[in-house]
Amino acid sequence: MFLPRSVKVKRTPDEDRSCTAKKHKLSSGGSLLEETTEFQDCKSVGTETSASTYNLSETVQEHTEPAAADLGVANTPLGKDNQNTDEDGSLEEPIKSFSKSQRWAEPGEPVCVVCGRYGEYICDKTDEDVCSLECKAKHLLQTQAKEKQLRSDQCTDSQAEAHLLNTPYFYKDHSFILGLQDEQVENLKLQLGIAVQGQQVPRPIVEFEHCGFPETLNNNLKNSGYEVPTPIQMQMIPVGLLGRDILASADTGSGKTAAFLLPVIMKVLKETETPSALILAPTRELAIQIERQVKELMAGLPNMRTVLLVGGLPLPPQLHRLKQSVKVIIATPGRLLEILKQSSVQLHSIKIVVVDEDKKLFKPPVLVFVDCKLGADLLSDAVHKITGLQCTAMHSEKSQVERTDILQGLLQEKYEVIVSTGVLGRGLDLVNVKLVVNFDMPSTMDEYVHQVGRAGRLGHSGTAITFINNNSKKLFWDVVKRVKPTGTILPPQLLNSPYLHDQKRREQQRLKQLQSSLVTGDNIMDIIKKHNKNNSQR
Ligand code: AMP
Repeated sequence: MFLPRSVKVKRTPDEDRSCTAKKHKLSSGGSLLEETTEFQDCKSVGTETSASTYNLSETVQEHTEPAAADLGVANTPLGKDNQNTDEDGSLEEPIKSFSKSQRWAEPGEPVCVVCGRYGEYICDKTDEDVCSLECKAKHLLQTQAKEKQLRSDQCTDSQAEAHLLNTPYFYKDHSFILGLQDEQVENLKLQLGIAVQGQQVPRPIVEFEHCGFPETLNNNLKNSGYEVPTPIQMQMIPVGLLGRDILASADTGSGKTAAFLLPVIMKVLKETETPSALILAPTRELAIQIERQVKELMAGLPNMRTVLLVGGLPLPPQLHRLKQSVKVIIATPGRLLEILKQSSVQLHSIKIVVVDEDKKLFKPPVLVFVDCKLGADLLSDAVHKITGLQCTAMHSEKSQVERTDILQGLLQEKYEVIVSTGVLGRGLDLVNVKLVVNFDMPSTMDEYVHQVGRAGRLGHSGTAITFINNNSKKLFWDVVKRVKPTGTILPPQLLNSPYLHDQKRREQQRLKQLQSSLVTGDNIMDIIKKHNKNNSQR
């Protein structure tokens, strides 16, 4: 007996009217024996609902060769088992063996996926509509071919993967990162302020160990004090390691440089041609800073020379070094152009280009001190109107919320200039203020010292510019005494001021008096005599 392994009824009895008509046709005119000879594995079984479309059973156990299995059974002996009779003997329409025996589908009827005729049956293996055993076999053959193709594609994928392992651009999410749920990743990004655009952006890493860096690089990171990646590094490094183009934006001091340097280092590490990478920086200072960081991170890695091509320094040594098989060029655009114009240096071997456009780094906020609230508001407006710089005023009339907002804005460099009364003078650790301007000289030296101390905190250098006029004349000599030892060049108007000389003279007199009132071995007898004289006079 050749019985289908599964039989599913799919069509409703209503749909079956046309089938019934067809059944008659087949049983009267079709050569059933002939047809079933070729499809001995399959057998139509009557169903309780008398529906005529079936989910055709699988015709072979193993689908290594479905065509042969489904079709190549010509040498199988035929017998009554091949007849489409049910076990209870009820008359049942035999399954159509050949496509040509099937009628064309009426509008709205299921259509055979192979030939387009009436899809009277359903293939139990694929759930697709087929018209006959012939089309089922063809359909399975096609399905198998597709599966085979898919398998070979997957094989090609893994070959490509293996190839990728040997290329500079290979990055796969670390198992820890893969283990995170999408929701967790989104949450993490939200909390860290990571926003991304683009197709199939890889997940951020959480630790440098997730990047698959060589041991030396991991050690260099630790030696530089990079314990954990900053948010920009978390997201940018995996994207960079994939060799994707990136446009990234993050605040100054957020670790952007290392975020692009680490993928650059990984890329050039495997390059043999030199130079392999070009990093363009807008200013000499930034280029120098980048080179310092590259060197720190590359330390101990093989064949990783760098060259700094910047203006303001002699060109010949830079040119010479450029020709020494350097891997990474760090340059300002001006000097690079100058070199390219003059020499035969070729840059066609460059595989990766980074443009670091961090203008903000060189526009630290300016803190301006004035002596009254109105002055702060007026000057702030004037500076904004005239220069277009982002400017705000800070004074005692600002609410706590406004003050916090201003201070955060200052630290995040949202504001380029803050005009403040003395309220910002003390206590605050405004590390990123590089320039303090005393638009109005404070009324005491103590306050002055605190205000100029806002620039260059924590060992950073800073600058203070103080405007001084006769309103502060009583402090002239104190200012000079305080500032002169720092090597600052003082204006002649101040140095020649009669007030200053008057103060200086008076101070010297006071000192003299003080000295004369001091008891020393030399003047002790004089003091005693004077004292006795005064007493006798009384
Ligand atoms: P940048 O924003 O690139 O100018 O970096 C600002 C400073 O942060 C530099 O001095 C870097 O050396 C330092 N830095 C960068 N990444 C990290 C990190 N993951 N951990 C600690 N310091 C870092």
